[in-house]
Amino acid sequence: MSSANIRHEAIKSIATTRHALNRVDFRKMRLKDIFGINVFNEEMQRAHLPEDVFNAVQRTIKMGEPMDPSVADAVATAMKDWAIQRGATHYCHLFQPMTGLTAEKHDSFLTPTPSGGAIAEFSGKELIKGEPDASSFPSGGLRATFEARGYTAWDPTSPAFIMENPNGSTLVIPTAFLSWTGEALDKKTPLLRSMDAISHQAVRVLKIFGKHDVQRAITTMGAEQEYFLIDKRFFYARPDLITAGCTLFGARPPKGQEMEDQYFGSIPERVLAYMAETEVELLKLGVPVKTRHNEVAPSQYELAPLFENSNLATDHQNLVMELLRKTADKYGLACLIHEKPFDGVNGSGKHNNWSICSDKGENLLNPGDTPHDNAQFLVFCCAVIRAVNLHADLLRVAIAGAANDRRLGANEAPPAIISIFLGDQLNDIIMQIEKGGAHSSKQGGLFETGVSVLPRLPREAGDRNRTSPFAFTGNKFEFRAVGASQNIAGANTVLNAIVAESLDVIATELETLIAGGKDRNAAVRGVLSRVIRDNKHIIFNGDGYSAGWHQEAAQRGLPNFKTTVDVLPCIIDQKNIDLLGKYKVYTEKELRSRFAIICEAYAKTIHVEANLTSMMARTIILPACLRYQTELAHNVTALKAAGISPSLELLQIVSTTITDLEKQTAELDKILLTEDSSDPYKHACFMRDKVLPVMALVRKAGDKLETLVADDLWPLPTYREMLFIK
Ligand code: ADP
Ligand code: MG
Repeated sequence: MSSANIRHEAIKSIATTRHALNRVDFRKMRLKDIFGINVFNEEMQRAHLPEDVFNAVQRTIKMGEPMDPSVADAVATAMKDWAIQRGATHYCHLFQPMTGLTAEKHDSFLTPTPSGGAIAEFSGKELIKGEPDASSFPSGGLRATFEARGYTAWDPTSPAFIMENPNGSTLVIPTAFLSWTGEALDKKTPLLRSMDAISHQAVRVLKIFGKHDVQRAITTMGAEQEYFLIDKRFFYARPDLITAGCTLFGARPPKGQEMEDQYFGSIPERVLAYMAETEVELLKLGVPVKTRHNEVAPSQYELAPLFENSNLATDHQNLVMELLRKTADKYGLACLIHEKPFDGVNGSGKHNNWSICSDKGENLLNPGDTPHDNAQFLVFCCAVIRAVNLHADLLRVAIAGAANDRRLGANEAPPAIISIFLGDQLNDIIMQIEKGGAHSSKQGGLFETGVSVLPRLPREAGDRNRTSPFAFTGNKFEFRAVGASQNIAGANTVLNAIVAESLDVIATELETLIAGGKDRNAAVRGVLSRVIRDNKHIIFNGDGYSAGWHQEAAQRGLPNFKTTVDVLPCIIDQKNIDLLGKYKVYTEKELRSRFAIICEAYAKTIHVEANLTSMMARTIILPACLRYQTELAHNVTALKAAGISPSLELLQIVSTTITDLEKQTAELDKILLTEDSSDPYKHACFMRDKVLPVMALVRKAGDKLETLVADDLWPLPTYREMLFIK
């Protein structure tokens, strides 16, 4: 009686479609030739700008010097000519409002002339400042709707680029976004401020070590991006994926990731073709993509770039997400960059690799071969340990959000408890310092393979730990709790700010001791020994996924903010207002606005998911179940008529589960009617405490029905199909 449904259509279409995969010909195109071709980078600036203008721009970029308006005019003209030659018709200021996404408004270069013609125009004023009507972006009370003025301000340290489009390309200018009164309405401004703060403190520390010629330090960042790819036809058959980015229903597949056969497995051809094209597009934009591989969950993948200056890396990271999504469409795929698109298999994160580098190119977290006598490295390293221990709350809040809550603390993601993994070598040294001084570094040596034809490999001095949210990995720290869809600016802003504070405290102590006549090495030993004693409980080298760790962490007094709602109030803790204010990263007003914005975003996300849950239960799942129930009932009648006594078991269990689904859905609708958004924090609490639990019950009934109802009647693509039909 049933005809093919949308799900069957999707499977049939996937089985029979041939995709045009050969879109990039590397015999004609060399990667090294395309790298950065669409970027107005230093090389392009040198080629297109008069020498004095070029030098002035470089002084702004490298030394932070203010820019003269006449310089901006000259840059704008050169940029416009360069862009038009490359097919650009429009320009846009790209900014990162508090939605967490990027925003852009396009303007044409075209200006009509009085004589009826038109010329291409782009002035320094238009380059430097934009004025999007910004009242519709979240401002958390920083600006009322009637005070719509918001400004975008050109960030000359992140080069403009051309985004190609089939019908005319766009010159994209990275900008900061500020209110009329100068408050940051975006994620870039605080990041840039935090980079200034840490630079200042790092330079102070370097002076103590005699490096008087260092003027600036920059933070560096490389983010490994995880994502899922599923066939677009499945995506369009799932309203939850379209609207919420994750599945709100779906029974566990018979086979998930338990065979461990996906990680680093061979990459399917269509996916590989997609990755290659995405990478080409990113390379053209100067994004140094480097690594690609299968991730742990079925249909999960990862892309990693080389690290760059945090500001540029953040802009590039946003482009990575955009191009991953955009390119997927051309291959009949949908790219899911949500923290937990599928329950029961791994979610997706973004490993945020972070370090500090001097303007002389020295990586300040590079331990060298004998870290125990690298006092400068140890100061920077201990500053990070202290910062993470004292401000774990801020790090936790930087990665908060409804979507990441679904992932953190699941037993395959970093736990919501922040701790640090140092590895054997560094851990050993830190413990020696605590006792008064480090005298040796454990060495890695060579690796015996036991096979004569294999080369003897150098062995690292410490193993890896995949379960730690914050790990030292050789010459950088890796913050792994960042969610796949999050703008990494937030995590890096916090990291920079809290490490700036630690460096400040340590530098002040060292300066005082040394000025008082103490030998530098003795001063460092004394200060670091105390820093370690006070903060070592944040160090945990064991299994972060184990239940035992939760208990131990509690005994150690480490905070465990299980959900976003738990941790949000810390944004406006006096300690944090003071800290972020002192280093000029956020004003109190900006923090209060962020508190409101994140509460609202959390509540709205769950509001949408709850409505979607109810809608899908009523209009997609229930109708299929009722059809099946009717079929079963007809069967019972028919059997009776034929004189056979039917078993009622299946009909009964289907019927009671249907009743359960109806009851829980009605309950969810009832609760949603009492939603009150007048106080953002109370609203967020309400969504977590009252709405999420009922959503889970609706899902439970729906998922149970998926395992009972006849497969030919089930309308939603299932996990086993979405994750395994490629
Ligand atoms: P993993 O073993 O975790 O994959 P990799 O050595 O491949 O680690 O590096 C992962 C990421 O770390 C890359 O994006 C890389 O560019 C980045 N990275 C390496 N060194 C630094 C550094 N000094 N600062 C910031 N990121 C770095
Ligand atoms: Mg990693």
